[in-house]
Amino acid sequence: MIVTRFAPSPTGRLHLGHARSAILAHDHARAAGGRFLLRIEDIDGTRSRPAHVDTILADLAWLGLRWDGAVVRQSQRLHLYQAALTRLREAGLLYRCYCTRAEIAEAMSAPHGATPVYPGTCRGAPARDAPFCWRLDMAAALARTGPLTWHDHGDAVVADAAAQGDVVLARKDAPVSYHLAVVVDDAAQGVTDVVRGRDLFAATHVHRVLQALLDLPVPHYHHHALMTGADGERLAKRHGAPTLAAMREAGEDGAAVAARLRAMA
Ligand code: GLU
Ligand code: ZN
Repeated sequence: MIVTRFAPSPTGRLHLGHARSAILAHDHARAAGGRFLLRIEDIDGTRSRPAHVDTILADLAWLGLRWDGAVVRQSQRLHLYQAALTRLREAGLLYRCYCTRAEIAEAMSAPHGATPVYPGTCRGAPARDAPFCWRLDMAAALARTGPLTWHDHGDAVVADAAAQGDVVLARKDAPVSYHLAVVVDDAAQGVTDVVRGRDLFAATHVHRVLQALLDLPVPHYHHHALMTGADGERLAKRHGAPTLAAMREAGEDGAAVAARLRAMA
Protein backbone atom coordinates (compact mmCIF):
# COMPACT_ATOMS: atom_id res chain seq x y z
CA MET A 1 0.00 0.00 0.00
CA ILE A 2 1.45 3.34 -1.09
CA VAL A 3 1.23 6.06 1.59
CA THR A 4 2.19 9.67 0.82
CA ARG A 5 1.82 12.88 2.75
CA PHE A 6 1.70 16.64 2.39
CA ALA A 7 3.53 18.28 5.29
CA PRO A 8 3.18 22.07 5.22
CA SER A 9 4.56 24.39 7.88
CA PRO A 10 1.87 26.86 9.00
CA THR A 11 4.25 29.80 8.99
CA GLY A 12 2.60 31.56 6.07
CA ARG A 13 0.10 31.12 3.30
CA LEU A 14 0.42 28.49 0.59
CA HIS A 15 1.10 29.44 -3.00
CA LEU A 16 0.93 27.54 -6.30
CA GLY A 17 4.20 25.71 -5.63
CA HIS A 18 2.73 24.18 -2.47
CA ALA A 19 -0.45 23.30 -4.33
CA ARG A 20 1.51 21.47 -7.00
CA SER A 21 3.50 19.57 -4.37
CA ALA A 22 0.30 18.57 -2.56
CA ILE A 23 -1.33 17.47 -5.83
CA LEU A 24 1.71 15.39 -6.86
CA ALA A 25 1.78 13.64 -3.47
CA HIS A 26 -1.99 13.13 -3.52
CA ASP A 27 -2.08 11.75 -7.07
CA HIS A 28 0.94 9.51 -6.46
CA ALA A 29 -1.03 7.73 -3.72
CA ARG A 30 -4.44 7.79 -5.37
CA ALA A 31 -3.13 6.40 -8.68
CA ALA A 32 -2.02 3.32 -6.75
CA GLY A 33 -5.13 3.08 -4.60
CA GLY A 34 -3.05 4.25 -1.64
CA ARG A 35 -3.43 6.69 1.21
CA PHE A 36 -2.68 10.42 1.27
CA LEU A 37 -2.00 11.97 4.69
CA LEU A 38 -1.86 15.54 5.92
CA ARG A 39 0.68 16.54 8.55
CA ILE A 40 1.00 20.06 9.93
CA GLU A 41 4.64 20.78 10.76
CA ASP A 42 4.07 23.28 13.55
CA ILE A 43 7.06 22.61 15.79
CA ASP A 44 8.42 26.12 15.35
CA GLY A 45 6.29 27.76 18.02
CA THR A 46 7.64 31.21 17.28
CA ARG A 47 6.65 31.19 13.60
CA SER A 48 3.62 28.85 13.37
CA ARG A 49 0.13 30.38 13.48
CA PRO A 50 -3.13 28.47 14.09
CA ALA A 51 -4.86 30.77 11.60
CA HIS A 52 -2.53 29.48 8.87
CA VAL A 53 -3.61 25.90 9.64
CA ASP A 54 -7.26 26.79 9.00
CA THR A 55 -6.27 28.50 5.77
CA ILE A 56 -4.25 25.46 4.62
CA LEU A 57 -7.19 23.11 5.22
CA ALA A 58 -9.49 25.44 3.28
CA ASP A 59 -6.95 25.72 0.44
CA LEU A 60 -6.67 21.94 0.06
CA ALA A 61 -10.44 21.50 0.08
CA TRP A 62 -10.69 24.26 -2.55
CA LEU A 63 -8.21 22.37 -4.75
CA GLY A 64 -10.38 19.27 -4.37
CA LEU A 65 -7.84 17.30 -2.32
CA ARG A 66 -9.11 14.95 0.39
CA TRP A 67 -6.74 13.38 2.89
CA ASP A 68 -7.13 10.13 4.82
CA GLY A 69 -7.44 9.96 8.58
CA ALA A 70 -6.99 12.74 11.08
CA VAL A 71 -4.72 15.71 10.49
CA VAL A 72 -1.50 15.09 12.41
CA ARG A 73 0.08 18.06 14.18
CA GLN A 74 3.70 17.86 15.16
CA SER A 75 3.17 20.16 18.15
CA GLN A 76 1.21 17.31 19.75
CA ARG A 77 3.91 14.74 19.21
CA LEU A 78 6.88 16.33 20.96
CA HIS A 79 7.30 13.33 23.30
CA LEU A 80 8.11 11.13 20.30
CA TYR A 81 10.82 13.48 19.12
CA GLN A 82 12.20 13.75 22.66
CA ALA A 83 12.51 9.98 22.80
CA ALA A 84 14.46 9.95 19.52
CA LEU A 85 16.67 12.79 20.73
CA THR A 86 17.38 10.97 23.99
CA ARG A 87 18.30 7.84 22.10
CA LEU A 88 20.81 9.71 19.95
CA ARG A 89 22.21 11.55 22.96
CA GLU A 90 22.66 8.34 24.94
CA ALA A 91 24.45 6.85 21.96
CA GLY A 92 26.96 9.69 22.31
CA LEU A 93 26.10 11.19 18.92
CA LEU A 94 24.99 14.67 20.04
CA TYR A 95 26.87 17.57 21.55
CA ARG A 96 25.89 20.93 23.00
CA CYS A 97 26.65 23.99 20.89
CA TYR A 98 26.74 27.32 22.68
CA CYS A 99 27.54 29.47 19.66
CA THR A 100 25.40 32.49 18.99
CA ARG A 101 24.04 33.02 15.49
CA ALA A 102 26.55 35.84 15.07
CA GLU A 103 29.48 33.60 16.05
CA ILE A 104 28.38 30.93 13.59
CA ALA A 105 27.94 33.47 10.80
CA GLU A 106 31.40 34.87 11.56
CA ALA A 107 33.06 31.45 11.58
CA MET A 108 31.36 30.53 8.30
CA SER A 109 32.26 33.73 6.48
CA ALA A 110 35.68 32.33 5.50
CA PRO A 111 35.72 32.10 1.69
CA HIS A 112 35.68 28.34 1.14
CA GLY A 113 33.00 26.03 -0.26
CA ALA A 114 29.59 27.27 -1.24
CA THR A 115 27.54 25.46 1.41
CA PRO A 116 27.80 26.99 4.86
CA VAL A 117 28.59 24.16 7.25
CA TYR A 118 28.93 24.59 10.99
CA PRO A 119 32.69 24.42 11.72
CA GLY A 120 32.31 22.20 14.82
CA THR A 121 33.55 24.85 17.24
CA CYS A 122 31.80 23.33 20.26
CA ARG A 123 32.49 19.65 19.54
CA GLY A 124 34.20 18.29 22.67
CA ALA A 125 33.81 21.59 24.56
CA PRO A 126 33.07 21.30 28.30
CA ALA A 127 29.45 21.81 29.40
CA ARG A 128 28.69 25.28 30.72
CA ASP A 129 25.75 27.21 32.08
CA ALA A 130 24.50 28.93 28.94
CA PRO A 131 21.78 28.43 26.31
CA PHE A 132 22.69 25.73 23.80
CA CYS A 133 21.37 23.67 20.91
CA TRP A 134 21.98 19.98 20.27
CA ARG A 135 24.04 19.14 17.21
CA LEU A 136 24.55 15.78 15.57
CA ASP A 137 28.22 14.76 15.51
CA MET A 138 28.07 13.82 11.86
CA ALA A 139 31.50 12.15 11.71
CA ALA A 140 30.61 9.94 14.67
CA ALA A 141 27.21 9.21 13.15
CA LEU A 142 28.71 8.20 9.79
CA ALA A 143 31.33 6.04 11.50
CA ARG A 144 28.43 4.16 13.03
CA THR A 145 26.18 3.88 9.95
CA GLY A 146 28.79 3.29 7.25
CA PRO A 147 27.90 4.20 3.64
CA LEU A 148 24.19 4.66 2.93
CA THR A 149 22.01 5.02 -0.13
CA TRP A 150 18.42 6.07 -0.76
CA HIS A 151 16.24 6.20 -3.85
CA ASP A 152 14.98 9.22 -5.73
CA HIS A 153 12.49 8.43 -8.50
CA GLY A 154 13.81 4.88 -8.33
CA ASP A 155 17.45 5.83 -8.88
CA ALA A 156 19.96 5.00 -6.15
CA VAL A 157 21.54 8.07 -4.56
CA VAL A 158 24.65 7.79 -2.39
CA ALA A 159 23.94 9.65 0.86
CA ASP A 160 26.36 12.53 1.32
CA ALA A 161 25.46 13.77 4.78
CA ALA A 162 29.04 14.80 5.60
CA ALA A 163 28.51 17.80 3.35
CA GLN A 164 25.64 18.92 5.60
CA GLY A 165 27.89 18.99 8.65
CA ASP A 166 26.84 18.84 12.30
CA VAL A 167 23.18 19.74 11.83
CA VAL A 168 21.09 21.12 14.70
CA LEU A 169 18.56 18.60 16.03
CA ALA A 170 17.03 20.67 18.84
CA ARG A 171 17.11 24.25 20.02
CA LYS A 172 16.10 26.12 23.12
CA ASP A 173 13.15 27.75 21.33
CA ALA A 174 12.26 24.68 19.21
CA PRO A 175 12.38 21.35 21.07
CA VAL A 176 13.17 19.44 17.89
CA SER A 177 14.38 20.35 14.42
CA TYR A 178 12.65 19.67 11.13
CA HIS A 179 15.16 16.90 10.29
CA LEU A 180 14.41 14.78 13.33
CA ALA A 181 10.64 15.34 13.41
CA VAL A 182 10.22 14.50 9.74
CA VAL A 183 11.99 11.13 9.92
CA VAL A 184 10.21 10.14 13.13
CA ASP A 185 6.82 11.04 11.67
CA ASP A 186 7.30 9.55 8.22
CA ALA A 187 8.12 6.26 9.96
CA ALA A 188 5.36 6.51 12.57
CA GLN A 189 2.77 7.27 9.89
CA GLY A 190 3.91 4.46 7.63
CA VAL A 191 4.80 6.83 4.78
CA THR A 192 6.20 4.73 1.92
CA ASP A 193 6.75 7.52 -0.61
CA VAL A 194 7.87 11.06 0.11
CA VAL A 195 6.89 13.44 -2.69
CA ARG A 196 8.29 16.93 -2.12
CA GLY A 197 10.21 19.77 -3.69
CA ARG A 198 13.77 19.60 -4.93
CA ASP A 199 14.75 22.16 -2.27
CA LEU A 200 14.71 19.33 0.28
CA PHE A 201 16.93 16.97 -1.74
CA ALA A 202 20.07 17.77 0.29
CA ALA A 203 18.16 17.39 3.56
CA THR A 204 17.36 13.82 2.55
CA HIS A 205 21.03 12.87 3.04
CA VAL A 206 20.65 13.87 6.69
CA HIS A 207 17.29 12.11 6.95
CA ARG A 208 18.84 8.90 5.66
CA VAL A 209 21.50 9.00 8.39
CA LEU A 210 18.89 9.61 11.10
CA GLN A 211 16.80 6.71 9.78
CA ALA A 212 19.83 4.43 10.03
CA LEU A 213 20.69 5.60 13.57
CA LEU A 214 17.09 5.18 14.77
CA ASP A 215 16.39 1.90 12.91
CA LEU A 216 13.58 3.46 10.90
CA PRO A 217 12.32 2.26 7.50
CA VAL A 218 13.46 4.26 4.47
CA PRO A 219 10.71 5.64 2.22
CA HIS A 220 11.13 6.09 -1.53
CA TYR A 221 11.73 9.73 -2.41
CA HIS A 222 10.37 11.67 -5.35
CA HIS A 223 11.79 15.19 -5.36
CA HIS A 224 10.12 17.35 -7.96
CA ALA A 225 11.31 20.48 -9.70
CA LEU A 226 10.22 23.74 -8.13
CA MET A 227 7.86 26.06 -9.92
CA THR A 228 9.46 29.24 -11.11
CA GLY A 229 7.96 32.60 -11.97
CA ALA A 230 8.09 34.18 -15.43
CA ASP A 231 11.52 35.58 -14.46
CA GLY A 232 12.83 32.07 -13.78
CA GLU A 233 13.03 32.80 -10.08
CA ARG A 234 11.65 30.35 -7.58
CA LEU A 235 8.02 30.86 -6.83
CA ALA A 236 7.73 31.99 -3.24
CA LYS A 237 5.70 34.55 -1.44
CA ARG A 238 8.62 36.92 -1.27
CA HIS A 239 8.56 37.17 -5.06
CA GLY A 240 4.96 38.27 -4.96
CA ALA A 241 3.38 34.98 -6.10
CA PRO A 242 -0.34 35.03 -5.34
CA THR A 243 -1.39 32.92 -2.38
CA LEU A 244 -4.00 30.20 -2.80
CA ALA A 245 -6.12 32.03 -0.23
CA ALA A 246 -6.09 35.19 -2.34
CA MET A 247 -7.08 33.23 -5.46
CA ARG A 248 -9.83 31.47 -3.53
CA GLU A 249 -11.15 34.72 -2.08
CA ALA A 250 -11.08 36.29 -5.54
CA GLY A 251 -13.52 33.59 -6.65
CA GLU A 252 -11.14 31.49 -8.78
CA ASP A 253 -12.21 27.90 -9.39
CA GLY A 254 -9.95 25.61 -7.35
CA ALA A 255 -10.67 22.56 -9.50
CA ALA A 256 -9.58 24.49 -12.60
CA VAL A 257 -6.39 25.64 -10.85
CA ALA A 258 -5.66 22.03 -9.84
CA ALA A 259 -6.27 20.87 -13.42
CA ARG A 260 -3.79 23.47 -14.74
CA LEU A 261 -1.16 22.34 -12.22
CA ARG A 262 -1.71 18.68 -13.18
CA ALA A 263 -1.29 19.54 -16.86
CA MET A 264 2.18 20.99 -16.21
CA ALA A 265 3.38 18.07 -14.08
N1 GLU B 1 7.34 21.25 6.31
C1 GLU B 1 8.23 21.35 5.19
C2 GLU B 1 7.93 22.60 4.40
O1 GLU B 1 6.89 23.17 4.53
C3 GLU B 1 8.12 20.18 4.23
C4 GLU B 1 8.55 18.91 4.86
C5 GLU B 1 8.66 17.72 3.91
O2 GLU B 1 7.92 17.62 2.93
O3 GLU B 1 9.50 16.88 4.20
O4 GLU B 1 8.75 23.03 3.62
ZN1 ZN C 1 28.99 25.95 18.78
